[in-house]
Amino acid sequence: MTNFPSLINANKYESYLSLFYKLIREMYTGRSKILSKYKISEKAHFLPVEAPEWLLGITDTPSDHLPITYCPTEYLLDPRETIKFCPECMRAGYHSVFFMLKSISMCAVHRCNLLSMCGLCCNRFLGTIPIDSYFDCPVTVGRTDIICRTCKLSWPDISEGHLDLSERADLLSALTVWKSHSDWYRSIVQGASQSSQLCKDYYSDVTRDSAIAPLEARYKLTSTERLLGMIEGGQKAYWIKFHNNLPLSEMATEQYHNLREYVAFYCLEIKQKYLADHDECCLKINSLTGYMPMHEARAPLCVPALAYVVLRLKLACAIWPTPNSVASEKSCFDNLFRYIEPDIKPAELRKLIMFIFLKIMGDIQSNVTRGRSFNILLRTQSVTNDFFYFRRTMYRWRTVCRSDFEMDSSCWISADGTYNKLSVMWYHDQSPYKAMMII
Ligand SMILES: [Zn+2]
Ligand SMILES: [Zn+2]
Ligand SMILES: [Zn+2]
Repeated sequence: MTNFPSLINANKYESYLSLFYKLIREMYTGRSKILSKYKISEKAHFLPVEAPEWLLGITDTPSDHLPITYCPTEYLLDPRETIKFCPECMRAGYHSVFFMLKSISMCAVHRCNLLSMCGLCCNRFLGTIPIDSYFDCPVTVGRTDIICRTCKLSWPDISEGHLDLSERADLLSALTVWKSHSDWYRSIVQGASQSSQLCKDYYSDVTRDSAIAPLEARYKLTSTERLLGMIEGGQKAYWIKFHNNLPLSEMATEQYHNLREYVAFYCLEIKQKYLADHDECCLKINSLTGYMPMHEARAPLCVPALAYVVLRLKLACAIWPTPNSVASEKSCFDNLFRYIEPDIKPAELRKLIMFIFLKIMGDIQSNVTRGRSFNILLRTQSVTNDFFYFRRTMYRWRTVCRSDFEMDSSCWISADGTYNKLSVMWYHDQSPYKAMMII
């Protein structure tokens, strides 16, 4: 076996698997020989949590080439099961580390969808089969520079220089586009390691869409989805500074009554500012929470009025729905008082309440526009650092109860006493398994 320093050239954001394949070629051996030389288990090789020794001999920035740098383990592909690739990149002998993330389906350089390697190509790429068989068996695995008929992967002859050099040079200079992927994913993986649920949500297919805008705003970066044109426009998100340390001192009775008065007044201000023409909407939606009917009761969808009703519920209850119904308008503000210092400045309190209202309103729009029916749930665990952003609402949605008569029949608010819950229903989605909006 050859000794280091190696002649392998690590390209920008090339996957460690791609580098390992080059190492196999350079050492002219199989995977197991190299792994046993470095005393690396198969498991550690396929889901590496730190840079393996062989990689340190190839590059000074090993973390750039490891998928764990960009993504928590549970959202990485296990290469023993799936290897995605870009046919254009592979033609030049390049496999990006980002192709190892479950959430990535496109090549940023070539803007094409990724393909999956067939079993034979996987075996070859991972060094599972003996390297001599590359040359022995021209029909299946074949020579070094063949194209696989099953998965369309081309195997360039890395060592013998049969490549189109100018094409390769073009690719290498284009690899800088991965830098923005790197910045984006490094920020999110760090957030996830600090247990931000929003960051974890980003990695999951189910919740990714709703996490993108707030994460772009938090890190002041453009998401890979936006860069690749997979999403456009949408609701912009804004973060506010609020330190939600639990109150250190106990609230005196007098402070409690003073704060109650302030909060009641700020709620009234919101009503006057945002709900001037929505009195009737407010009454209807509020009455849905006041008593929970045995059968379904409905109110037309009104985004600001629903936001206001949910605001009042959030200020009052830590958890909702509860077995007993709560009339949002008659409720106290005891849940809010669990989070604020008794000597909070009125101006700050006012901002906070306005913020919660705008947040709920933005979240309602975001959920409604997804076109799925959803239940509204209030939970204490939602109030973490991830809570303090809101999405901008559009005028069209703030006035949906007045302007869009079509909506009346296709979308409504429903209350159901059997489960004591409030839902926003789409006519086309009445399945009992609903999405959830957790506030
Ligand atoms: Zn590509
Ligand atoms: Zn293949
Ligand atoms: Zn209205």
